[in-house]
Amino acid sequence: MQPRDLSEHEAYVPGRGAEEVARDLGVDPEDLIKLSSNENPHGPSPAAVEAIEAAAPTVNVYPKASHTDLTDRIAEKWGLGAEQVWVSPGADGGIDYLSRAFLDPGDAVLVPDPGFAYYSMSTRYHHGEVTTYPLEKSADFEQTAAGILAAYDGERIVHVTTPHNPTGSTVSRDELRELAERVDDHTLVVVDEAYGEYAKAPSAVELLEEYDNLAVVRTFSKSYGLAGLRVGYAAVPVAWADAYAKVNTPFAANEVACRAALAALDDDDHLELSVDTARWAREYYREELNAPTWPSGGNFVLCEVGDGAAVAAACRRRGVIVRDTASFGLPECVRVSCGTREETKDAVEILNEVVAETRAEASGP
Ligand SMILES: *Cc1c(COP(=O)(O)O)cnc(C)c1O
Repeated sequence: MQPRDLSEHEAYVPGRGAEEVARDLGVDPEDLIKLSSNENPHGPSPAAVEAIEAAAPTVNVYPKASHTDLTDRIAEKWGLGAEQVWVSPGADGGIDYLSRAFLDPGDAVLVPDPGFAYYSMSTRYHHGEVTTYPLEKSADFEQTAAGILAAYDGERIVHVTTPHNPTGSTVSRDELRELAERVDDHTLVVVDEAYGEYAKAPSAVELLEEYDNLAVVRTFSKSYGLAGLRVGYAAVPVAWADAYAKVNTPFAANEVACRAALAALDDDDHLELSVDTARWAREYYREELNAPTWPSGGNFVLCEVGDGAAVAAACRRRGVIVRDTASFGLPECVRVSCGTREETKDAVEILNEVVAETRAEASGP
């Protein structure tokens, strides 16, 4: 007995967890600074924590009311109809629902390279084929409609990430419009705004009124600090919004997640603190790191260090966990998440030491 041919499938490589690294090093996880998965350094909103505790005694019941309430609340936030909000287990779940709704076996999907691994994973799960468009380091990973269209060959879905993980680059509203207008009629453009709150640009959700070949995925994992609960959503145009009922796994997001997300949506202070800290930290990295970095619209910065794996390992030994970006196709870089102010300053000190030492070793005695 064997599963189907999975030889083209790749396993997701997550950032290293604090507990796992702490065990390897024989230290307390509390003593580590974890900047490898773009999580919220301020934790979840205290209101969300309260909601999680309050929900505990009712988890014997399927999440029906909470799911409806969350859907309505998100719809209200964006001025959408409730049917346009596809609540999902993380934004990753939203990507899966779009793959389920759009892909026939053998359909091609265009994804950015370097880019977020889950687009191609989801494509392959749904029996699709992956093609890529390049983001060029020599052009500072600039994202334009023309650049994407140069690689476009009638794919069924085109994934766009803004702000882009791991480079931090963004796509302007005009470029998104141009892309949506110039692709073939059967092509869906999926705009991943997992880091949308950190960017200064308005959300592509506002374009759903005008374009029926666009969907936007967002998440509670990053700026809302709820990564552990797995809740996100896709916002879709009215034209095909009813497909959700036919593709979603029943009770897509769990009771605790829905309650926590509802509470988080009402905690503007926590969101503002999270966004402000990240915007400060990404500038601090840009100014203080003694290595090339790129402007970032997200809560992380990409940094060119030579040997990313070696630098990440050396940082880890000194208690700072950064993301080696080899799995994104950038082995010469690391990605550093924005921490609290204190964590960010400590991380810069250690990264600068490690980068200087690695350079000295590379140039020999
Ligand atoms: C983190 C991330 C996501 C989704 O995360 P979920 O935890 O599944 O919501 C989606 N896209 C990008 C680019 C990300 O970095």
